[in-house]
Amino acid sequence: MCGIVGYVGSEQVAPILLDGLSKLEYRGYDSAGVAVYSPQHHGLVVEKAKGRLQVLSDMLHGGADLDGTVGIGHTRWATHGAPSDVNSHPQVSRSGKIAVVHNGIIENYAELKQFLEEQGVPFTSETDTEVVAQLIAYFYESEQVDILDAVGRVLRRIEGAYALGILCADAPDQLIAVRKDSPLILGYGDGCNFLASDVTAIIRHTREVSYMDDGEVAVLTREGIRCYNHLMQPIEKEICHVDWEVDAAEKGGYEHFMFKEIMEQPEALRRCIFPRVRDGQVYFEDFGLSDDYLRSISKIYIVACGSSYHVGMVGKYHLERLTRKPVEVALASEFRYMDPIVDESTLVVVISQSGETLDTMAALREAKRLGAKILSIVNVVGSSIARESDVVLYTWAGPEIAVATTKGYSTQLAVVNLLALYLGKLLGTLGEQEYHAILEEMLRLPEKMDQVLTHVNEIQYLASQYFNHDSVFFIGRNVDYALGLEGSLKLKEISYIHSEAYASGELKHGTISLIEDGTLVVALGTYHKLFEKAMSNVVEVKARGADVLALTTEGRREEMAKNATAVLTIPDAHDLMLPSLGVVPLQLFAYYVALMRGCDIDKPRNLAKSVTVE
Ligand code: GLU
Repeated sequence: MCGIVGYVGSEQVAPILLDGLSKLEYRGYDSAGVAVYSPQHHGLVVEKAKGRLQVLSDMLHGGADLDGTVGIGHTRWATHGAPSDVNSHPQVSRSGKIAVVHNGIIENYAELKQFLEEQGVPFTSETDTEVVAQLIAYFYESEQVDILDAVGRVLRRIEGAYALGILCADAPDQLIAVRKDSPLILGYGDGCNFLASDVTAIIRHTREVSYMDDGEVAVLTREGIRCYNHLMQPIEKEICHVDWEVDAAEKGGYEHFMFKEIMEQPEALRRCIFPRVRDGQVYFEDFGLSDDYLRSISKIYIVACGSSYHVGMVGKYHLERLTRKPVEVALASEFRYMDPIVDESTLVVVISQSGETLDTMAALREAKRLGAKILSIVNVVGSSIARESDVVLYTWAGPEIAVATTKGYSTQLAVVNLLALYLGKLLGTLGEQEYHAILEEMLRLPEKMDQVLTHVNEIQYLASQYFNHDSVFFIGRNVDYALGLEGSLKLKEISYIHSEAYASGELKHGTISLIEDGTLVVALGTYHKLFEKAMSNVVEVKARGADVLALTTEGRREEMAKNATAVLTIPDAHDLMLPSLGVVPLQLFAYYVALMRGCDIDKPRNLAKSVTVE
């Protein structure tokens, strides 16, 4: 995962790198480092430290300690070798002349390492990345080729996924960038140029960017950026203008990005839904799938990871209900190895906030190979998944920084609902009246979500009652089950409380044996049709001593309160909107529980936002 940033220009580079890395810390945060070319030392100076970026920043007095105007930086999410000073990036060649920052995994690093060791090259770290630095130096020094040539030779030998930033002491006015399967963008400034894993790292300096494609190499100097394809032939890259506000990636007075992003959900939904409703119809601009094709599909396969997978779980209920087409939902990491039954008549919907999730990307490619058309639901414009899909429906949520997704989830779900409406109408499986009723409700969703957000204090109070539980169960049926999966994930990922979600009907097949005096059960009973059943399950677990925190709609509050220990509500709404509204109290509950437990909410342990390793 990790974040990479690089700068070549005329300003002091270290503060720029540290500032860029602070925007990328969501990608990995177990250690950080920078390498700069120092005119004072006539060579590379490399500084790195285990722990959060702040440790490095303090050590370097915000970068003031380092001279030089060209450099690379990295914030790590370790895959090979524990987080430590020595395993931090940049990794440097024995000669000290080549520094490399890397996002991804070099799969054949062991055999390359063995080769280099046989040539007498000593290794200092346990990382796969060091092999890249040492191998570049090996070709550069033993074969006396220029640095770009040496990098080209290395690229022909390394396998796996990588975004690389490379700095060579003998070519101190340039950086080399390489990309395969891990994201890397180029930024065009005035007398300076940038490379970065994500636009947020450089938007303060430039809005003109291009997205590197797989196999591409770029050479950045102060004057410009030269790009090459995998055959090292020069190519022209399209330059795109990024139009979102710098503030969008700042906390804006909130204590945590997660809270800010929870509160931004109504606005994000307005951006996502409103432009797609025209003259009372769902309208997708540049929708490259023909009506004939859509009529011919035999099934829909939703493929995603984590919270996006949970969106897919809700999506299955909604899409099947409105289109009457069979919908399968698969975890991307499973899909790619399961020999899936997919062909030309399958529409594969891939969902990923970052658009860079490696497992999802691999699943997308597998589905394409099998002949399917790909529709992706993605937040980050120009991301890899977006670029390899037949159709992209952007969520337009704006930058999401907290590792635990909130507005990402809500906007993905809104897009799935719009898609269900669009297909239902086209296929004739959804009546005119219901179509308009649901669409009306979608337009009202942001406003209803605003209402949910007024319950913040109540949710904070409930969190204070339950934050010291060790184990929590989320139960629900149908869409409430899918909602429970997300509520449970949210809680466990940021509060570290063990939490599981079960389909309520499954309780009696095993899980109920875990319920004892004082066990916290979050019972989801928003889905009108199955309210009575939800209630029976509340009674069932209550009878076994559970504390039941129930979530239902306003109209059912009183009824639910007869049995539950505490009740949270969402506004009454059409069935299809219930998970969109219901997720908000669960996000807030997880947030406050984590806050009360003193957890690092935006950067939970062992996680990173953009999962670009398998
Ligand atoms: N595989 C490299 C390491 O463990 C890079 C991991 C990352 O993407 O942060 O150091």
